[in-house]
Amino acid sequence: MKRTVLSVAIVATSLFALSCKHNPKNQMACNAQDSVMVENIQYVIVAEEQSSANNKAYSEKAAAEKHNNVAKLFTAKAKADSLRAEKHKAVLAKMVDTTKLPARPAPKKVVPKSTPENLKQSINDDEYQITIVYPNYIEQAVLAGDSMVVTTLQWAADARANDKNYGMAVLETVSKNGNDTEVSEVWFVCPQCGSIADSISTSGTNSCGMCGVVEDDFIVVKN
Ligand SMILES: [Zn+2]
Repeated sequence: MKRTVLSVAIVATSLFALSCKHNPKNQMACNAQDSVMVENIQYVIVAEEQSSANNKAYSEKAAAEKHNNVAKLFTAKAKADSLRAEKHKAVLAKMVDTTKLPARPAPKKVVPKSTPENLKQSINDDEYQITIVYPNYIEQAVLAGDSMVVTTLQWAADARANDKNYGMAVLETVSKNGNDTEVSEVWFVCPQCGSIADSISTSGTNSCGMCGVVEDDFIVVKN
């Protein structure tokens, strides 16, 4: 997927007019910089939507294998990915007239394997995004001085790192026990950054460690 999504990076500079806030004295350099930001956001939208589709398929497979708690983890991860894609879309809409951008490719259909293998694949996907994609794009956004893009990418990177850790913990539990009875039956998703959790404070008044949203507002995944 990481290779094919490069096909979305065909945003011609002439397709949109952006305010030249980075380098007002050099419109060409400014437009090139902004077009890279747009391409990068397009890429992570596609990546998050693909990840969401994958995790949804893995959830269905886990449920079919009677790993119902793992199925809920995958559902939470799919929601988290989808939320991040929507946040990125909102940022993109503030940057450019999105009706003039090329259509993004729809997620490809994934063929799930066994639940442990799907957990590994989901973890590997997270690993690629948080070690390669997001750090590179965050660095570019920092250099461009685009704090709005930095923020959406940094939240996503931090949240995916958090979500990957839960996937690893669940994989370890399932591998050790051969079942998922010790995996949380309820999962929570931050509606802002897509950070997941297997518990929240009983008062619900604590805040998301990534973005600060009050836990009481978290989406609950229990079915
Ligand atoms: Zn959050």
